[in-house]
Amino acid sequence: MTSTLLTGIGELTTCDDTLEPLLDAAVLIDSDTIAWIGPATSAPAADDSVDLGGRAVLPGFVDSHAHLVFAGDRSAEFAARMAGTPYSAGGIATTVAATRAATDAELRTNLARLAGELLRAGVTTFECKSGYGLDVETEQRSLILAGEVTEETTFLGAHVVPASVTRDEYLTLLTGAMLDACTPHARWIDVFCEQGAFDADESRAVLTAGRERGLGLRVHANQLSQGAGVALAVELGAASADHCTHVSAADIDALADSSTVATLLPLAEFSTRSPYPDARRLLDAGVTVALATDCNPGSSYSTSMPLAIALAVRDMRMTPAEAVRAATCGGAAALRRDDIGVIAPGMRADLVVLDAPSHVHLAYRPGVPIIGQVWRAGVRVG
Ligand SMILES: [Zn+2]
Repeated sequence: MTSTLLTGIGELTTCDDTLEPLLDAAVLIDSDTIAWIGPATSAPAADDSVDLGGRAVLPGFVDSHAHLVFAGDRSAEFAARMAGTPYSAGGIATTVAATRAATDAELRTNLARLAGELLRAGVTTFECKSGYGLDVETEQRSLILAGEVTEETTFLGAHVVPASVTRDEYLTLLTGAMLDACTPHARWIDVFCEQGAFDADESRAVLTAGRERGLGLRVHANQLSQGAGVALAVELGAASADHCTHVSAADIDALADSSTVATLLPLAEFSTRSPYPDARRLLDAGVTVALATDCNPGSSYSTSMPLAIALAVRDMRMTPAEAVRAATCGGAAALRRDDIGVIAPGMRADLVVLDAPSHVHLAYRPGVPIIGQVWRAGVRVG
């Protein structure tokens, strides 16, 4: 066991109970775990010490919503959308065709590239969904490949109904043979509960079947319209309702009274030129909020958690401290993890060191590469 003292921390954002950062702090890492935090002047002895020269330190980001197993890209669709074509769920078919045709090696290469981008953006834990196979074989291999890069794997066969089968046939697969093939490789099940995808009853059937097999629940909810997704997520005790762009007062009350996290995905609104979710209203009501990238080739092809934070601050009226907390501790809550997302003794030593003196710079300097160092489980990995 080796201990390392990180000292010279100008500002330590712990994302623990308080939003107030510690100034002139130190962090002691013992093996893969945080052993001590406090003022630099009273830091304990350690085998090694690293002087961070006044830089800001925060927990490694937790990206609780990403779609990374796919082939091809949809840059032409993006350009058309920016020229005025509206976003709809149907463009997924392009990616499904490319993903089914891709070899494991091709999918693995793309996945590794995106995982590398996430790491350089300060993300030390990420969730990864299937959902571009939409047949038993490709959904299963998508999850096997996802499992090579993260333990937070999510079965999203219920993304859209593919063109090759009827709606009834596909729902039978989703709650039967496809689910059976995918369950051993997934921790979570997710459903795109939206007009043009799956309605409330269909979504309930899919989620209930997943829950019966031991999977945790997540829902793509209320992205494009004020639908039934949030209410369903709360009703079924889902870990997270994701998007929450169009929510009613009743949805907000239900979230506030539940353990379901509202995961906001502002890079999707940015990339589809859509209205942002009302984060202020959710936070003021007492809802637990997470920020995630929604990285996917259709509606949000970005791995930049710092940009998501900047958008949350500028366009969703979160304070920089609230946005950082949502991108760390909030993401951990959305994945029901109690070992990451906070800098405190006993937590996994996942840290981001900014090339800046304060976490505020994440929003104050949008688009600037200020992620200086990334530590995961006590090892510097970026
Ligand atoms: Zn998504």
